[in-house]
Amino acid sequence: MVLVPEISLTPQLLGRFESYFPGNIAVLHSRLTAAQRREEWLKIKNKKVSIAIGARSALFAPFENVGVIIIDEEHDSSFKQEEKVRYHAKDMALIRGQLEKALVILGSATPSLESYFNVQQQKIKLLCLPDRISSRVEGQPLPQVEIVDLKQSQSPTPRNLIFSDRLLKALEETLLHQNQAILLLNRRGYAPFQLCQECGYVAKCPHCSVSLTVYATSQKLMCHYCSHTILIQDTCPDCRSHSFAPIGLGTEKVEEELHRFFPHARITRMDRSSTQKKEMLGKILSDFAEQKIDILIGTQMVAKGHDFPNVTLVGVILADVSLHVPDFRAPERTFQLLTQVAGRAGRGEKGGEVIIQTFNPTHYSLQFAQTHDTLGFYQKELSIRQELQYPPFSKLVHLKVSHPLEKKAFAKIQELAKIGHSIVKNSPDLTTLELLGPAPSPLFKLKDKYRFHLLIKSPSYKLVKLFLSLLLKHEKFLLKSPAIQIDVDPLNLL
Ligand SMILES: [Zn+2]
Ligand SMILES: [Zn+2]
Repeated sequence: MVLVPEISLTPQLLGRFESYFPGNIAVLHSRLTAAQRREEWLKIKNKKVSIAIGARSALFAPFENVGVIIIDEEHDSSFKQEEKVRYHAKDMALIRGQLEKALVILGSATPSLESYFNVQQQKIKLLCLPDRISSRVEGQPLPQVEIVDLKQSQSPTPRNLIFSDRLLKALEETLLHQNQAILLLNRRGYAPFQLCQECGYVAKCPHCSVSLTVYATSQKLMCHYCSHTILIQDTCPDCRSHSFAPIGLGTEKVEEELHRFFPHARITRMDRSSTQKKEMLGKILSDFAEQKIDILIGTQMVAKGHDFPNVTLVGVILADVSLHVPDFRAPERTFQLLTQVAGRAGRGEKGGEVIIQTFNPTHYSLQFAQTHDTLGFYQKELSIRQELQYPPFSKLVHLKVSHPLEKKAFAKIQELAKIGHSIVKNSPDLTTLELLGPAPSPLFKLKDKYRFHLLIKSPSYKLVKLFLSLLLKHEKFLLKSPAIQIDVDPLNLL
């Protein structure tokens, strides 16, 4: 069984497996129709194939005699199912592997901190591939990474707001030598919000507590959580001023600016908006492989395991985007993203370079990504997590309540907190358990529901289990509307 994060993002992968094991593969993922899925499932059930490739649900492939389970890009958060039955496919793979006495291989150039910690604890064996793998060049070195401080290169001309002189020059060189470039900005749309510069009004989603993202090409403002869409207005609905304009930066805007600077270059954007049609993604990737595109700009989709030998330049427009997400995993995710995207440069004979633009040039995530020092990053990040007692040094349980009536949701979470505190207070074994909250969730309103949460920090799973078993005695209270959602080992605290 081979599990990959989002199979539709790496169409090359299937082809490679097919060429090695023709006719011996079933494919399982959520974009299949029910009939297709049944067909694939039967191939496995009737022993017509011996390999299943798919997203996290491929873990349930009905093989009777599993030999090996491979989790590719094991650090990827899409292996966690966030709704209904919450599970992490990596953890479940380790359990299925144990039950079936199968080998489990977790693969990644940037393993999750938890997996690295498990190596230190000797729960997982570490196998290193110290040399870069390439079918073309033996022992190709990793690309040079340069960090550009945007505070230094900032000038009053709008030219420098997106591209530093350093990046512009590198792009010019790339085009001159008919090489290719990948640019990453992990934010789609034209701008993250539309702001009135007279009165400060920001266009917000009426159903969620987030600002609407500006899409200039389609002249729309859209919510990324519930897809609520309105037409762009140029007067402020509040004060009727005309200084109602997009603020900030998204991939659409970068694309527009690229066209301005390089009118003759062939430029394409790859993000969730430009690849809504299934065929589009495959087409962009094959056009890029056939060098029909000079510059590819996109979100984290461009950082996936693509292998294009003619890419000699990778540019990160603003590394700070992922750094400032209010989540203790933000530094880890930033390091992984930068390392992954840097790995797209210099895969062929010509070598390559990486330019990272940022306002935080001294941040350790960027510094360790610059020197390709993965182990260094893990040491540093582990020491910070230990100090703050965050995973892997503690176990988290996220308790959430949401309801269309704010009052109802609030009353429920307060009641829950009361029960939680009394459980901790009355069980001598649970004195080391920490209850944080209740508090409004960072995303307070989502799809017309108000959200509150409570976080439990425990030194061990044993105590988590004990606490939850005591909590579940209040089953009626937990299930009664608004129901309480329990997420053990949450990956998303928003
Ligand atoms: Zn206004
Ligand atoms: Zn919304």
